[in-house]
Amino acid sequence: MDLRFDGKVAIVTGAGSGIGAAIARDLAASGAKVVVQDLDLDKAKEVVAEIEAKGGKATAANGDVSDPDKVAALVRNAVGWGDGLHLLVNNAGIGGPLAPVGEYPLDGWKKVIDVNLNGVFYGMRFAIPAMKEGGAIVNMASILGSVGFAGASAYVAAKHALLGLTKVAAIEYAAKGIRVNAVGPAFIETPLLSALPPDAKAGLVAVHPIGRLGTPEEVSALTLFLLSDRASFITGSYHLVDGGYTAQ
Ligand code: NAP
Repeated sequence: MDLRFDGKVAIVTGAGSGIGAAIARDLAASGAKVVVQDLDLDKAKEVVAEIEAKGGKATAANGDVSDPDKVAALVRNAVGWGDGLHLLVNNAGIGGPLAPVGEYPLDGWKKVIDVNLNGVFYGMRFAIPAMKEGGAIVNMASILGSVGFAGASAYVAAKHALLGLTKVAAIEYAAKGIRVNAVGPAFIETPLLSALPPDAKAGLVAVHPIGRLGTPEEVSALTLFLLSDRASFITGSYHLVDGGYTAQ
């Protein structure tokens, strides 16, 4: 299936690394003009350079998605750069501290909720009014949007809440031709997992029935389908890409 996004403008947050970078590369290779947003401007610029080297169109933007003023400016600049806005991938996210609820660091809780939940709200809050009919949004959740994981209360709470937010936005904007969905990856080989000790990573492989971790490209493939017109009857739902993790 050939998914095309010619003439469409996309914002992908946290696109300087991992899953977001794969989505930005794939969208650009499929004809979209992509705003590659990241906390780290240099990383965003590297992804833009890769896209341009292959003949794609992209621009780099930085800023913290947990800062509403930065997100508002991101959307404004994207609309000016690309002549409109059609696609948004709220992908930026952090793992946060690992500790039981009774010992969870208070500042870590606030930070994870700020980036992984509030950041997604700000993305939709400012992008939706700027979007054209036929717009589509993907919010990057996780398998931890539907199951728990000891030690990761803030992350799990944020990803569960993100699914509720996705459903409400989908209902509110369906009649305006804007679709909103969530994607739930299992453990994917990206720098996000580098915080885990090596033995923990081997343990994670073992709990995926498919026998390995996922790749950013596998998450990107599902995301692009949901953003595309091929998914025209899909909104308000949560789509797993998890190697069988949650089937157990
Ligand atoms: P990643 O490789 O660490 O990429 C995330 C990117 O987001 C990084 O470039 C990071 O920049 C950026 N970022 C962090 N905080 C930000 C902020 N406040 N504003 C803007 N950008 C920010 O992680 P990933 O694995 O690709 O994760 C992408 C998304 O997938 C996240 O939402 C994550 O929760 C979700 N996910 C990941 C996995 C997994 O196993 N990898 C599984 C399920 C879901 P810096 O590095 O400069 O901080």
